[in-house]
Amino acid sequence: AKEGGRNQVQFYEPAMHARIVERAAIEGELRGALARNEMFLVYQPKVHVATGEISGVEALLRWRHPTLGLVAPGRFIGVAEETGLIVELGRWVIQTACAQNKAWQDAGLPPLRVAVNVSARQFRDKALADEVVAALHSTGLQAQYLELELTESMMMQDADEAVATVQRLKKVGVGLSIDDFGTGYSSLAYLKLFPIDFLKIDQSFVRDMLGDPTMAAIVRSVISLGHSLDFRVVAEGVETEGQLAYLQRYHCDEAQGYHLSKPILPEEFAALLAQGQAR
Ligand code: C2E
Ligand code: CA
Ligand code: CA
Ligand code: CA
Repeated sequence: AKEGGRNQVQFYEPAMHARIVERAAIEGELRGALARNEMFLVYQPKVHVATGEISGVEALLRWRHPTLGLVAPGRFIGVAEETGLIVELGRWVIQTACAQNKAWQDAGLPPLRVAVNVSARQFRDKALADEVVAALHSTGLQAQYLELELTESMMMQDADEAVATVQRLKKVGVGLSIDDFGTGYSSLAYLKLFPIDFLKIDQSFVRDMLGDPTMAAIVRSVISLGHSLDFRVVAEGVETEGQLAYLQRYHCDEAQGYHLSKPILPEEFAALLAQGQAR
């Protein structure tokens, strides 16, 4: 205790140093990752809870680096945001997901929505709506088959600007959802200002709902309030049959999670889609 801050700094230094080194490595390597074809998308089905049929699919970004290995988005999305690389990366994700979805349709598979995650920086970029239009145009995908996943915090920062952006995207005709719902601070009444189609209940609530009555109450109230405000409700992180049964009982519309399917490669998803059911 008497040493005060000095020793503490020394104590934390190695761990901090390692983080800075990893960050620098990631930042350096991220710059060329797209050009070196190291990025790819995996696809996780969304399923109608009532029928088990595939309702849509979410595209998730993966990075395979020759020496860093498979780098999870949790390790590089933040860096990409801070450096601005996310703008180029995000454009690539939208373009690639649209092209993939069009290819599935052209192969005769039943048409469905592909959802892509939009970062805060992309959302603030004035060019986003134009880029979405350009991606739809160049791939020939109809707008109704693309969905953008936004987060609550994007809606909260500079609300007037956010409403304008969401309205612009809505006019393009794409579907819109609020991801990780319940982890931010917005109220459902406030969200009603935005022309949103889907609420995705954050996986932390779904994970704990069968053991924790508070979590279960949150899940049930998001479903019922969501419905009364005309949103469709999606539960993510569904890992067990019990969780799925609970969601079915409370009329959650769609579900996503390892119990239904992990994120998979495009050809694996095509095979699943040809079968019609995720399980
Ligand atoms: P998210 O959008 O909330 O995506 C859900 C995450 O949970 C994914 O992790 C998914 O693989 C994982 N997951 C799915 N089902 C289950 C389950 O049953 N149990 C558990 N424990 N996890 C499950 P992933 O792919 O590592 O992505 C993490 C986050 O990185 C995403 O969270 C999203 O915020 C971000 N991200 C991923 N791809 C992109 C992208 O293309 N652009 C942007 N801006 N962000 C992305
Ligand atoms: Ca998401
Ligand atoms: Ca989520
Ligand atoms: Ca998340």
